[in-house]
Amino acid sequence: MPSKQAYFFGAGKAEGRGDQKELLGGKGAGLAEMTRIGLPVPAGFTITTEVCDLFYKRGKKWPPGLEAQVRKALHHLEDVTGRTLGDPQDPLLVSVRSGAARSMPGMMETILNLGLNDRSVEGLAQGTSNPRFAYDAYRRLITMYGATAKGVPREKFDHEFQKIKDTRTRARLRIPEGTKVQDTQVDEAELRELVHRLKKIYIEATRQPFPQDPWQQLVGAINAVFGSWMAEKAVTYRRVEKISGLRGTAVNVVQMVFGNLGEDSGTGVCFTRDPNTGENQFYGDFLPNAQGEDVVAGVRTPLKLSELERRMPAVYYQLVKDRRALERHYRDMQDIEFTVERGRLYVLQCRSGKRSPQAAFRIAHDFVKERLITKDEALARVTPEDIERLFYPVIDPAFPRDELKGRFLARGIDAVPGAASGEIVFTAKDAEEFAASGRKVILVRRETSPEDVGGMHAAQGILTATGGKTSHAAVVARGWAKTCIVGCEALDIDARSKEMRVNGRVLREGEVVTLDGTTGSVYAGGLPTVKPPLPAAFTEVMKWADAIRRLRVRTNADTPYDARKAVEMGAEGIGLCRTEHMFFDTEERRLAIQEMILADKVDARRAALGKLLPFQREDFAGIFLAMGGRPVTIRLIDPPLHEFVPHEREKQEDLARRLGIDADQVAHRVEQLHEANPMLGHRGCRLCITYPEILDMQIRAIIEAAIQVKRKGIDVRPEIMHPLVMDRKELEILARRTREVADPILKASRLRIPYTVGTMIEVPRAAFLADQIAEVAEFFSFGTNDLTQMSMGLSRDDAGRFLPEYVDPAKAAIFASDPFESLDVDGVGGLMKWAIAKGRSVRPRMKIGICGEHGGDPRTVKFCHRAGLDYVSCSPYRVPVARLAAAHAVLEDRAAKRKRRA
Ligand code: PEP
Ligand code: MG
Repeated sequence: MPSKQAYFFGAGKAEGRGDQKELLGGKGAGLAEMTRIGLPVPAGFTITTEVCDLFYKRGKKWPPGLEAQVRKALHHLEDVTGRTLGDPQDPLLVSVRSGAARSMPGMMETILNLGLNDRSVEGLAQGTSNPRFAYDAYRRLITMYGATAKGVPREKFDHEFQKIKDTRTRARLRIPEGTKVQDTQVDEAELRELVHRLKKIYIEATRQPFPQDPWQQLVGAINAVFGSWMAEKAVTYRRVEKISGLRGTAVNVVQMVFGNLGEDSGTGVCFTRDPNTGENQFYGDFLPNAQGEDVVAGVRTPLKLSELERRMPAVYYQLVKDRRALERHYRDMQDIEFTVERGRLYVLQCRSGKRSPQAAFRIAHDFVKERLITKDEALARVTPEDIERLFYPVIDPAFPRDELKGRFLARGIDAVPGAASGEIVFTAKDAEEFAASGRKVILVRRETSPEDVGGMHAAQGILTATGGKTSHAAVVARGWAKTCIVGCEALDIDARSKEMRVNGRVLREGEVVTLDGTTGSVYAGGLPTVKPPLPAAFTEVMKWADAIRRLRVRTNADTPYDARKAVEMGAEGIGLCRTEHMFFDTEERRLAIQEMILADKVDARRAALGKLLPFQREDFAGIFLAMGGRPVTIRLIDPPLHEFVPHEREKQEDLARRLGIDADQVAHRVEQLHEANPMLGHRGCRLCITYPEILDMQIRAIIEAAIQVKRKGIDVRPEIMHPLVMDRKELEILARRTREVADPILKASRLRIPYTVGTMIEVPRAAFLADQIAEVAEFFSFGTNDLTQMSMGLSRDDAGRFLPEYVDPAKAAIFASDPFESLDVDGVGGLMKWAIAKGRSVRPRMKIGICGEHGGDPRTVKFCHRAGLDYVSCSPYRVPVARLAAAHAVLEDRAAKRKRRA
């Protein structure tokens, strides 16, 4: 039996400490610590989590010794406060609250105003000269105690309260029907009547009167808090939040203090620094003559802290002193709840304050400069989510939440964060046309294909009915940081009649919607968006991250513009340049690639490829220039050819006219290209195995561009990558041909440009046989989009239909997250580890990276660090996210090492 079961705090002394969270719960440890550092905390005591554990082990009975310790602590509390529980003159009232080692907001019970009974309520009424207040406190106690300690349905109490309001208060104040009667409008007489009725309900339900003995109330309340630990909602919450290994909840019995005892009382919330900007400025609100919940409810407008300084200077200066003490002690910005009871300040709670992403960077940075924390600690305090939210616009937080709810249309998968409004259009062509005339549009498609890229680029945001986080729309939009929602199943799109149905509403072309890509929500109408400015501290904190990380961070970029953007974001190279994206940039390019595909003879194909060569060369040169000597991995053509040709008769006829061929010939070729499973079909390096002339053109373009740039005195480091390789021999053929094209061109140039030839590992067979493949490949890059698709047998374009249910904790909960967003570390990650080990068994220093969408996911980045990858590659806007995650991985390593040593 633990000898100490209750820990006292008050009058400047505490038996517990802040580091005893496991034993005293978060709240109990916090109260003890605040008392220790001299803050004016209300006095009380904490019953330990061990007791809760024993309570259950003993069939819901108190362990021996507990009663004596609680009685002793209570007497101590009465001594310190100079009041007695249940005293008919000037009673002590206490709150009884739960508090586990991990926060479980709203999951467990609290009972306030304990100690009131028919006599002490009169004492409170007299002592405070406020009978209304006393009876209001009493009716709250009966309700809370009845519902939580005795299981009386809360609605019964609420219903009675409502009845009083609707009959007595409404009539007295002549409040018209249809207008809500506020709790605060109920007067003393009505509250007295209410208390009488609530006690009757209590007796009817429990067959006992409401306990008048405060000790009995206290025992009942402590048992109720223990009981709430195993209540269904708390058990479910722990399961969903994966909270395990806790002994139970602690119980905090704390002296009640009241801010609503007149103009010399009040309550407030403040932050030790501005939580919006991070500025080192005391920030907060104060509401005179009010209780905490009045501040939260926002019924009255609170006053600024400067007003508190004017009205109650002593309280204000004490708070300012506490502010400094708190920051020094907790070494973080704190959020403080306080109450002033008749001119006396009480700090009720303090915790690390929630802050905007801007403030997170500024505070972390400033705390290092003020020597309160180390750089490592500062880094640990900024999160990848903070970074994401720094770069994307958001729906103006000032926009009324109720109105926002009313505008809600549907929810899809949150593919790219940010917020965007515009008129809806249903084809890429319309998007381009609307945008050309200066209109802002949202492109709505069932799914997108490379043909839509022009329209996607012109749109403010993209919304699709199908697809997941690595579908075409998501991948392309992410590259541009363009707000995108995919897999919005509620959309029923009719592109022909240019309208869509969504949850019973019909929206036509030109109607405005707003996308919130951060949550995946679609709203009717235009909503105001704001783009927060980048804080100056961001750059410096990111430098600290770069100084400690081991993993390199590259970017997926297909254009010189993206490449420049990515370098600004800190990219150290390109890990994936998807060359096919370049084919769609202009009409001319589109026509040339279509001509190549439609050609049925090698010569005709070569001629069409010849038209593409200068474009590709120019693009590659632009990218090499933008990357200024950093490595650039260029991947040869990848998607199935059918994606490049039109499928509608009208468009086929148009294409035939432009190329001077027969429309039936076009239709025939499109028919030939049709595959039942194109993602498992004639794509990737299989295209260059069967049409090596495509490889010839692309390699020529790469090498000639490299020569051009090198001649300008800029270093070039091309890495040529073959996609979808599944066999050593396949890569051998491709690597040989690559060199056969590249080497003579280089030789003729008389320049030395070292280049490497490697492969993506994105087919499970290639991962299994990575040792054989490594005999040919000079580098590996994991294409985890395809590797996930093929390892898990999940279509990356269609799985969005059912995957949400797989990851929803309230539904199937099979995976913790979407495996196309965050790597399936056990399955696909295991395969990667195998391939890394096999590959390096042949080529010990082989460079290995990842270029699937997972490369920008913080959890995956940490996995890549641990798995020994050299780099991750992700879209430009995710580069800082990956840089920070890579630094966090190092910090986690260090913490693990420290733990092992300890
Ligand atoms: C991949 O499969 O992970 C990859 C990067 O290639 P893509 O997304 O272009 O198929
Ligand atoms: Mg791929």
